[in-house]
This record gives sequence, structure tokens and C-alpha cells, in this order.
Amino acid sequence: MSEFKLESKRPLIISGPCSAETREQTLDTCTRLAATGVVDVLRAGVWKPRTRPGSFEGVGLKGLAWMAEAKRITGLPIAVEVASAKHVESALEFGVDLLWIGARTTVSPFSVQDIADAVRGSDANILIKNPMNPDVELWSGAVDRFLKVGVAPSRLGLIHRGFSYFGHNELRNPPMWHIVLGMRSRYPEMTMICDPSHICGNRDLLQNIAQTAADLRYDGLIIESHICPDKAWSDAAQQVTPDNLERLVRNINWRHDSTDDPDFVKALNNYRNEIDQLDSELFDLLSRRMKIADRIGAVKRDNNVAILQGSRWSSIVDRVLGQAAQLNLDEEFLKTILETIHIESINRQNKVMNE
Ligand code: PEP
Ligand code: MN
Repeated sequence: MSEFKLESKRPLIISGPCSAETREQTLDTCTRLAATGVVDVLRAGVWKPRTRPGSFEGVGLKGLAWMAEAKRITGLPIAVEVASAKHVESALEFGVDLLWIGARTTVSPFSVQDIADAVRGSDANILIKNPMNPDVELWSGAVDRFLKVGVAPSRLGLIHRGFSYFGHNELRNPPMWHIVLGMRSRYPEMTMICDPSHICGNRDLLQNIAQTAADLRYDGLIIESHICPDKAWSDAAQQVTPDNLERLVRNINWRHDSTDDPDFVKALNNYRNEIDQLDSELFDLLSRRMKIADRIGAVKRDNNVAILQGSRWSSIVDRVLGQAAQLNLDEEFLKTILETIHIESINRQNKVMNE
């Protein structure tokens, strides 16, 4: 029976190698991490679901024995990834305190159900990583499978590890923070941990993502650390030494949830009033703009002219983007807003022309 409680500490810091590779590497990394004093739980992958066959797929059961040894030596609870009922059984036998479901497993309802059935009746703590794709339904489905077999909500948590992205991005798995905010409003009390390592894919951006997670009031972090990162058998580019892990964690500013300071409250209220006022002007303008689109639809209809007038649209885009610098607004942001407005404008004209 695990004594460990997910909500025992905020922020909860989980660290350890991507993979347990050898006994020496596992124990060296874990004892050094424990000595930093900033790590609450040790992690390692012993079964590695890899995108392509032939990559290092984990050492299996012997890795569990090394992690159990790390737990004995350091006194810290341990976490491993499980992807099947058999993994759950072995992990619990070796005294693993925290099981996590990897992103490639969360996408599969059959696998998630198998794992949920295997933990039924145990007191395991489980963290569910977001699925590879930004699908809140799939992620909640996994959570609900565990709730349904009777896992207490206090023993369940979520890990945000970013989403697979088609195309080039400086991050390996862009975080899409807003998707996770949606998940958090479904399960407001549930522990939410950020995994900067798999979001970034390289060490340079870890600090920045970790700070964003702290600013968004995440409950903790899971960050990969390896005694010799460049020699790691998996995810080498994103792992950091235990010393650097300590520096990174100590550099994070975990801000207050709130403060009663009257000056702060007054300033915030003033700004919020201003935002509310501007929002109402903004949407009033949008409403007026759409009414004009309706009239344009009517004249096009009466003259039997097509809705889309290509050169007109590109001249709008050019004019607005030309003002980006002066407005101090990001060009991509302006483009997104313009496109959204354009789609709605076309829908409105379409309606007028065909009614
Ligand atoms: C991991 O934590 O090492 C891992 C494989 O992560 P993910 O499932 O997020 O890819
Ligand atoms: Mn990894």
C-alpha cells in the first residue's frame, strides 16, 4: 500500500530520467536528484512506447527493481509509465507509488480501460497525460474510465505534455494552453502537472515553459533529468543534469494565488472595468460591421454578383497588416482575427443572397 498522497505538496516536483537504462545510471541520477532537496517524486520509464520500432523500448522488469532500490535509498516515492494491465500488476508489486499513462496510450480507449480495470480496488495514484492530439473529450474519457472503476478523484491527476503538431514549430509538442484550460474547468479540483520536457523537446526552453505553468497555477512539474543527458538512450536533447534541474526549479517564481493589498485590488478593478468597457465597444463595432456585410449581400444579390471578390479581400488584409507595427499587434494575431471576421461576413452575405 502506498503512503504517497498526490495532494501532499504544492508545487509537486517529479523528476528522473526519461528511461531507466542501467542500474548505475538510475541510482546515480535518483540519488543526486534526491540530494538537491527540490524533488518530491522520482520518475523513470521502464517500458517505452516508441513512435518507431527499433528505438530503445525500455529495460522492463529490471528497471522496476532499480527504481524500487532508488526508493529504498532516498526515501522518495517513485513513478513509472504503464501501458497495459500487466505493467500495472508488476509496478504495484514493486511498490511504485504513482503510475502515469503516456500520451500514446491515452488516445486508446481499449488500453485505458484495461489499465483502469487493473487498478480497480487498489489504492494506486494515477496521472493521465494528455492524448497526442488536442482532444479534450478523449482526455476526459480517460479520466472518467478511472473514476468509474472507483479511483478517488484525489488519487487522480493530469499531466499536460503538449500536442503533436504537423509542421515546423520550435517546440516538440506545442502546449496549446487554452485546450488545457478547458480540461481544468471540467475537473477544477484535479491535480494538474506540466511536463515542460516533452513540450520543449530541448533544454533551452524548459525554464520558460516551467515559468508559464507556474503563472497559470499548475500544481507541479514533471521534468526529465539524467546523470549524463547527452548520453541518454532516449530524449537526450531535452534532459538536464540533476544540478541544472535544481537550478531550474529554484529559479521558478511561484507567484501568490492572490493578495488582499488594497492598492493591488484597486488597480486590478480599474483595469478590469476598462477591459469590460472596451469589450463592449469592440463587439458593438463588430455588430455594426456585420450589418454592413448584410447590406453588401443585398446589393450583390440584386445585381447577381458573386460574394467573393478576391482582390478586395487581399487589399483589406494588406491594409490591416500594414498597421500591425503602429498598433503594436502581432501580425499572426491580426490575420487570425481578420480571417474569423471574414468567414462570418461571408456566412451572413450568403444567407442574405439566398433567402
Ligand atoms: C515520457 O514521459 O517519457 C513519455 C514517453 O512521455 P509522453 O507519453 O508524454 O510522450
Ligand atoms: Mn521522455
